[in-house]
Amino acid sequence: MRIDLLTLFPEFFLSPLSQSMLRRAQVLGKVRFRVLNIRDFAADRHKVTDDRPFGGGPGMVMKPEPLVAAIRRVRQEDPHTRVILLSPGGRLFDQGTAVNLAQVASLSLVCGHYEGVDERVRHFIEDEISIGDYVLTGGEIPALVVVDAVTRLIPGVLGGEGATEEESFQTGLLEYPHYTRPREFEGLTVPEVLVSGDHARIARWRREQALRRTRALRPELLAEATLSSEDQAFLATLAEVSGKDR
Ligand code: SAM
Repeated sequence: MRIDLLTLFPEFFLSPLSQSMLRRAQVLGKVRFRVLNIRDFAADRHKVTDDRPFGGGPGMVMKPEPLVAAIRRVRQEDPHTRVILLSPGGRLFDQGTAVNLAQVASLSLVCGHYEGVDERVRHFIEDEISIGDYVLTGGEIPALVVVDAVTRLIPGVLGGEGATEEESFQTGLLEYPHYTRPREFEGLTVPEVLVSGDHARIARWRREQALRRTRALRPELLAEATLSSEDQAFLATLAEVSGKDR
């Protein structure tokens, strides 16, 4: 997979792209990142990329010409690249979107800054993604969120380090709790079932913990999750217990 990052602050990406899983994904040849400086596409002598908003008001707006020239460059090199603008008004990013994007051969992520981009840039992109209902200073952190969530889903990237199938959201539920050594830490012990060696019991316990945790922390996810009759029976027992508590 190829991911191009279009930004006014290319150095922002230096450290995140050269550490941990993102570094390994590149070493393995699973992903190729390229950071393009939008300023390089400004045609004027002073390389101006922003200007005051028409109609007045605070802040600066990213000019369309350099941005569209940068988008044209990535499209010229790869006509099928999916160009996505990071924007607080975009479609909310979630695990389902990450799974879909991990199947795309080429992505181009456009990072806004200042008050955002000139509205006409929207004619040159395919999609807009928001990472949450809050406003950040620029699209660089949101782009990195997308890059990380997507890259770890590319087959072979996580290797032996971890599987994504049972992670939070992947199954429609939050993930079950994890424990490692020591078996006892400051009086807190590891649940007996996890050291029983009984794989069927462990699987059932983990499923029940995932259901319990999802019900407690993100109950709205249960409405969309695929639940077996056994899952539903277990949730009914939880409802009974909390009913009795009232
Ligand atoms: N004036 C804009 C508004 O009210 O919607 C906010 C602009 S923000 C300060 C500058 C840039 O940061 C945006 O163009 C976008 O690229 C990025 N950004 C900020 N918050 C974001 C979010 N929650 N998700 C995705 N991108 C975001």
